[in-house]
Amino acid sequence: MKKLYTPAPFCIAILLLLLSLELFAQQTLIHCGNLIDGLQNQTQSQMTLVIQQNKIIRIEKGYTNPGSGDKVIDLKNKTVLPGLMDMHVHLEGETNKNRYLDNFTQNPADKAYEAAVYARTTLMAGFTTVRDLGGSGVNVSLRNAINKGLVIGPRIYTSGKSIATTGGHADPTNGYRKDLMGDPGPEAGVANGPDECRKAVRQRYKDGADLIKITATGGVLSVAKDGSSPQFAEDEIRAIVETAKDYGFKVAAHAHGAEGMKRAVRAGVTSIEHGTLMDDETIALMKKNGTFYVPTITAGKTVADSAKIPNYYPAVIVPKALAIGSQIQGTFAKAYKAGVRIAFGTDAGVFRHGRNAAEFIYMVEAGMPPMAAIQSATVVAAELLGVKDRLGSLEAGKLADIIAVEGNPLQNIAAMEKVTFVMREGVVYKNE
Ligand SMILES: [Zn+2]
Repeated sequence: MKKLYTPAPFCIAILLLLLSLELFAQQTLIHCGNLIDGLQNQTQSQMTLVIQQNKIIRIEKGYTNPGSGDKVIDLKNKTVLPGLMDMHVHLEGETNKNRYLDNFTQNPADKAYEAAVYARTTLMAGFTTVRDLGGSGVNVSLRNAINKGLVIGPRIYTSGKSIATTGGHADPTNGYRKDLMGDPGPEAGVANGPDECRKAVRQRYKDGADLIKITATGGVLSVAKDGSSPQFAEDEIRAIVETAKDYGFKVAAHAHGAEGMKRAVRAGVTSIEHGTLMDDETIALMKKNGTFYVPTITAGKTVADSAKIPNYYPAVIVPKALAIGSQIQGTFAKAYKAGVRIAFGTDAGVFRHGRNAAEFIYMVEAGMPPMAAIQSATVVAAELLGVKDRLGSLEAGKLADIIAVEGNPLQNIAAMEKVTFVMREGVVYKNE
């Protein structure tokens, strides 16, 4: 006769099941002195966040006592916030005097090792999610390595290599000797005409990107003369946006000049990056279309400062950096006042990684209340990414991306630079 089961293994199975249930029930209680949940406009004091595995399961008033096996994290003298989200970073590199030589001396693996360091630095600064808007494509592998737990860093949504027109801001061969320039083509993100634009988007899908980045106008740090004129025709941007939609991709458009911005907004991009010379007509269009504005004030200030250091940038960049960089904070003030939706973004990499929170100080300096600045880097950023159902606020059911800062950022926004605790998806990476 065949036995259906033997009693001993059956008992062991039950025991293992009970053990795993016990493990599953194990909770981490975070005692929060002050809590900014990303949704309410005021701070709550003496609260407990209950974490199970990678999620917040409850938020309770007061300091909840731990049950048996529960872990307690004491943040009673800190302000606890949702993990911060920077919507414009470049993790593959960082500004330095020799940056323009890097293209000739660095292999992708060299970039990758550097990027791993910058990713860690970014996470330790309290940024648990970033949008990486362009690089060589190493950023796609970096995202995967972080997701696998091989590298410590923020959750990355990446565009892979940006898309530009020939000679445009993200043409990787700008300024090269002619025989090295060649014609990079859609695969390398250089596309002309709607057909090539579609091909470039599809290539990014194949490469494993999460979204699309285009350079709708000239830019400061490319080795090219013009920093703000349009570089795509509207039908080209339309082809990009429509094709991107087929793959569920949003489109981020780098733009400094108003004409390029208007074409991009009319064609349906999700966000305008930098937006330096945004005029009233552009503001009205962005409000009408619900286009997000990602300011990058920190990058603007940094390039303007660096341009004053002799030989820091190639000569062609200096006048662009001086003219454009210093204007972004003023544009931000105008856009905020007019009611444009603003998502936090810094362009980290153009300045040193880990200094992302300086942007909060510049935003508040320009007239945005501290709470609104914090929300731009939490709920609003989550909305831009389309991940509001799991990120951007501290609520039951959301992923446990939680940070804490020294002091109260609503009284002094500089507190955002003093991150002492970082948890991403329930795992603690920093607790000082
Ligand atoms: Zn950028």
